[in-house]
Amino acid sequence: MEQTRHAPPMDPPTGPLMGQMMHQALTISSILQFAARHYAASEIVSRPVEPDLQRELHRYTYRDCERRARRLARALHDRGVAMGERVGTLAWNGYRHLELYYGVSGSGAVLHTINPRLHPEQIAYIVNHAQDQLLFFDLTFLPLVEAIAPHCATVRAFVLMSDRAHMPDGSAIPNLLCYEDLLAGATGDHDWPALDENAAASLCYTSGTTGNPKGVLYSHRSTVLHAYASALPNVLNVAAADTVLPVVPMFHVNAWGLPYSTLLSGAKLVFPGAALDGQSLYALFEAEGVTFSAGVPTVWLGLVNYVLENGLAFSTFRRTVIGGSACPPALMDTLIDRLGVQVIHGWGMTEMSPLGTTGGLLAKHRAQPREEQRAILRKQGHAIYGVDMKIVDDAGAELPWDGATSGHLLVKGPWIAARYFGDEGGDILQDGWFPTGDMATIDADGFMQVTDRSKDVIKSGGEWIGSIDLENIAMAHPAVLQAACIGVAHPKWDERPLLLVVRRPGMDVGRDELLGFFVGKVARFWMPDDVVFVEALPVGATGKVQKNRLRDAYREHRLPGT
Ligand code: AMP
Repeated sequence: MEQTRHAPPMDPPTGPLMGQMMHQALTISSILQFAARHYAASEIVSRPVEPDLQRELHRYTYRDCERRARRLARALHDRGVAMGERVGTLAWNGYRHLELYYGVSGSGAVLHTINPRLHPEQIAYIVNHAQDQLLFFDLTFLPLVEAIAPHCATVRAFVLMSDRAHMPDGSAIPNLLCYEDLLAGATGDHDWPALDENAAASLCYTSGTTGNPKGVLYSHRSTVLHAYASALPNVLNVAAADTVLPVVPMFHVNAWGLPYSTLLSGAKLVFPGAALDGQSLYALFEAEGVTFSAGVPTVWLGLVNYVLENGLAFSTFRRTVIGGSACPPALMDTLIDRLGVQVIHGWGMTEMSPLGTTGGLLAKHRAQPREEQRAILRKQGHAIYGVDMKIVDDAGAELPWDGATSGHLLVKGPWIAARYFGDEGGDILQDGWFPTGDMATIDADGFMQVTDRSKDVIKSGGEWIGSIDLENIAMAHPAVLQAACIGVAHPKWDERPLLLVVRRPGMDVGRDELLGFFVGKVARFWMPDDVVFVEALPVGATGKVQKNRLRDAYREHRLPGT
């Protein structure tokens, strides 16, 4: 019998066999180059910020955007903006802001988006901390920039994002430049420089309710990976056939990555400028055939109210992501059941680029009754590949994924911050995990549900009470527009829940009726002790209710029976 012949043994391996694929750095300019080449004619439509131009929408294509962003990169180079230097923006969602997104990062400098809703002193602090070299701003913010300019020591020039016709006759701002002049004056042609994918690309400061804001410095690589992952069907599901309107501002965590994920998907992009009221948004949704949008709950409350009050309907709008704070179940139900809009609940934070989880159903949920499906959709959702998460107790021991045990939520992944800009706060990780400051449960299927911010948790008799749950129940009452629940000192129980409520215009509900609405919906000891009706709730720069301010204001509130 012939013997089997074996190949001679290979030399013992000295290291891993390396793949033999091309190397291409994951850079932000590569997204725009791809978009301009492969979806050249895809449209970008913007509502101008300049009041006299608002009757007509500005329109151009991906190809035009790439050409102008490249000119902008050239202009930055001409002005001596070096690799890694920061360039600030105070701007709405619009095409010039998009050009800055790509032109600044693509040139090798760092795009620093600033939230104009912050207090001017905080804005000046942020500009100085980031050492911004140039500051670009929309016409709306001319008075704001006039006020802060004397305090911005590092800024060499301020650029008004408009044309010559909109430049002020006289201004106290030193070195005031015009955006369109800057572009027109850029010398010669410019190619996108080759960059290290780990180089810094953009910078965003957290809204931080205490202490000074801290900067999160994203890299090209983290931004591209986040954009890739966020376009997946489980996440935002952005496709070439979509028309995307990001309501979430480009000054808040890169508009949840939409300026990147939309362009790499080839979709039409619509920017609302400064007009974020229900009427203006509805008109734009209808005029441009918007299919997909994203924003914080407060924006949707405004838009949905406008649509319902006027007996309107959406003709193309089919899907939205709601996040930034918990999506009230009543809002979700109205969008799904009355307006035919699919709601994806999203959770994340500035330190996470921002997306961490998104909601949705699994195949096994398809046959379940509506209420059970809704309970799943209300959760903040499933981790996105690229994000790992766990919940731990006070001592750091991992807690079970049983959907009931609540613990501190920790995350890790390639688009999650390892430290803050300037090493503010020192080493922020716990054994390589980022502590989110949120309390959450995770169920056996991996769905995460935020129960509270750690600092908002109400502790009563040693037990936790989830304020988000209580707010959600209150907001399901037809006469309640908005609700916030805080802990107030109690002599016996340490803290008890106090509910602050804004009534829906023209509707009435009293304290006892509202408390009665909770009966049977929560454990007895979770029942709020009292209700205070208010005109409005304090909202911070990113559209979230400021519970620290409420706690300060109601510190002395006497609960019944105390
Ligand atoms: P920011 O960095 O300003 O985006 O704030 C991040 C924080 O917002 C998170 O740590 C959460 O506390 C909160 N947050 C974001 N999305 C949600 C959500 N879907 N539900 C509840 N809280 C959320």
